Amino acid sequence: MLAKLTDKKKSEITLAKRTEKSVAERIEGTGLTGVYYARDNTRVYPYGDLACQLLGFTSYDASGSTGVEQYYNKYLAGKNGEILFETDLVGVDLEGATAAYLPATDGLNVRLTLDYRIQSLAEDVMRRALTEHSAKAARAVVLDPSDFSVLAMVNLPSYDLNEIPRNDLAALNALSRNSLVSDIYEPGSTFKIVTAAANIEERLRGNPAAFAENYVFSSARTRVVGGTTIRCWSDHKNGKHAGQTLAVALNNSCNPCFVDIALALGKEKFYDYLAAFRFGQTTGLDFSGESVGMLLPEGSVRDSDLARIGFGQTIAVSPIQLACAAASAVNGGYYYAPRIVDEIFSDDGSVREKTERALLGRTVSEEASAILSRMLEGVVRDGSGKKAYLEGYRVAGKTGTAQKYENGQIAQGKYVSSFVGYFPADRPKYLALVIIDEPQGAYYGSTVAAPCAKEIFEGIVKIKRLAPVGGVV
Ligand SMILES: [Zn+2]
Repeated sequence: MLAKLTDKKKSEITLAKRTEKSVAERIEGTGLTGVYYARDNTRVYPYGDLACQLLGFTSYDASGSTGVEQYYNKYLAGKNGEILFETDLVGVDLEGATAAYLPATDGLNVRLTLDYRIQSLAEDVMRRALTEHSAKAARAVVLDPSDFSVLAMVNLPSYDLNEIPRNDLAALNALSRNSLVSDIYEPGSTFKIVTAAANIEERLRGNPAAFAENYVFSSARTRVVGGTTIRCWSDHKNGKHAGQTLAVALNNSCNPCFVDIALALGKEKFYDYLAAFRFGQTTGLDFSGESVGMLLPEGSVRDSDLARIGFGQTIAVSPIQLACAAASAVNGGYYYAPRIVDEIFSDDGSVREKTERALLGRTVSEEASAILSRMLEGVVRDGSGKKAYLEGYRVAGKTGTAQKYENGQIAQGKYVSSFVGYFPADRPKYLALVIIDEPQGAYYGSTVAAPCAKEIFEGIVKIKRLAPVGGVV
């Protein structure tokens, strides 16, 4: 300190950063000449860890390091305050010179598409699930399929934005990741939505390779593809996976039926749909660090790979990719750019920029989408998605259970349980993707993840005071 203070080459030195206002006032009160302070902007997070990975945090100089803070930094940051001195050429203060203080101007503000009440609700539900299943992580994204605005994003465990663990980089990196956007996982059976959508659309277009709605798939448990045997997760012994149409195959989540579809459509056609659903690409979300997922290049896909992709293996996706793909499959076939920021406005309330719903492309026709949605409503009413059923609200969806891989090997006993659901089935307004990473004990998406989606939907019904179909609350 003394060395710094007596260094004659410096015209000013910084004694302390991020000092409380009261301390600054006390120092000013002492009347020490040559000692002054500059105002700094500090973020205060009244909601603590709410949506922390989505908001992101700023570095000490208040520029955005992660999340919305980073993506929209140029709007949020404002202009740094600075003190100007009249100095001589070597920077030594001139005797009697005056200092001018240019105060920091406040940055612009962003209004998020996030619904605070749905965010809190989803966080509560997922926090309980994290504890109940002693899971490694619990995640959920809720979006509006009619315009792809993000209503909630939950990544647990999390941290309090007011108490950022800046000194523990490993912990900070792990806790501050928005895994819903940056990380990938094998989707498993939720991916059958995409395979079914492709089949229905191709059938409507008159492709003879696609299966009709009343086609009955082979009841065998296995398919032999390119010399490898692919099995259903069920042993097919109780007769439930026999004589299945596409709708029943979705209810039962029967793997071989989706192997048949992927192989019948063929690599080229199937990859056209994967591209339309934006697998292997970003979704267009206004957020930094989005993963494109992992999709085998079309040129190197073997039949056995194609067969597995048909039921959600040999492919890895980000949760936001899966949620958006499902949303576009059931909203009439419209793929919009998902959005987190609704508008940018200044302190006087005037809107500087407004984000609009942006159509990126079509996935399927409205007719195919309606047929698929009816089938997915059946999955929740009669099939593996029963635990997400909510009387009177036409919930639809699909479960998923995937094994985890570590160093290219199946990690024994490690699963990802998921459920993607939405309501109402005929005009989807709320879609939730729930992911429980490494639940202990029960691990099927139908028993672990589907109940969380139901709780989220129940909460939304209360928050939005939604009346059931054909009745009053
Ligand atoms: Zn089966």
